[in-house]
Amino acid sequence: MNLTGKVALVTGSGRGIGKAIAQKLAEAGASIIINDVADSAEATAQEITTAGKPSLFIKANVCSSAEVNTMIEKIVATYGKLDILVNNAGISRDQITLRMTDEEWDAVINVNLKSVFICTRAVLKYMMRQRYGRIVNISSIVGIIGNPGQVNYSAAKAGIIGITRSVAKEMGSRHITVNAVCPGFIETEMTQKLSEKVKEEYSQRIPLGFLGSPKDVADAVAFLASDEARYITGQYLCVDGGLIAGW
Ligand code: NAP
Repeated sequence: MNLTGKVALVTGSGRGIGKAIAQKLAEAGASIIINDVADSAEATAQEITTAGKPSLFIKANVCSSAEVNTMIEKIVATYGKLDILVNNAGISRDQITLRMTDEEWDAVINVNLKSVFICTRAVLKYMMRQRYGRIVNISSIVGIIGNPGQVNYSAAKAGIIGITRSVAKEMGSRHITVNAVCPGFIETEMTQKLSEKVKEEYSQRIPLGFLGSPKDVADAVAFLASDEARYITGQYLCVDGGLIAGW
């Protein structure tokens, strides 16, 4: 996959899966914009630049339309265009439905779902002008199968699939593709919170027998962001070691 000359924004890419996606797209030749709420994410942009690939850090909260619009304007002012958007930023606030607070619900819906709408809306203006764009949304298998204790998270991730299909249909005639990747259990800080017992139980249920790595997700994203995937839109691709195969 060759992304030379492409400009790619990965939200929430200071660490975890987002960082692996940014590194992968940079390896494939794209200029990378690292976005995050934490200043520490600048180190990720520096790492990529040190590895010889151009990279820029822009601090912005993806839940804020104003901050996102300013970020996109800065990208277009710097690079003249924006080809690839990866909506990756996400959080979890797990709790059984009976005990979940409005704050826990709203926080997860805002960061995981509303942000996808805000960022997508902000880039479409430029992608439509270019008559080219690749949008890859990071959903989750729990958006398909649900998960106890994650009513907020699974609703957000299911919503992302709805956004993916709707925008794909709106934008097909402009050669903008919109797809989702649904990771299963991937070893990051988000899943480090799980106990060893839970991880072991999940591993036993995964046909491939092990948890995935951020790079496994990044490889799928790079494919969907490439010209090799030009005839794929409105789809979701599970990167889950077969966990929900046949669901
Ligand atoms: P992670 O390690 O917690 O990383 C999430 C990143 O998003 C962090 O860099 C975080 O910044 C950033 N972020 C949080 N709120 C933000 C905001 N408002 N604006 C901008 N950036 C923000 O999570 P991960 O495991 O890599 O997950 C990445 C994506 O994959 C998420 O959408 C997640 O739901 C999805 N996913 C993960 C798994 C898994 O097994 N890990 C499975 C399925 C789906 P800070 O560093 O400042 O917190």
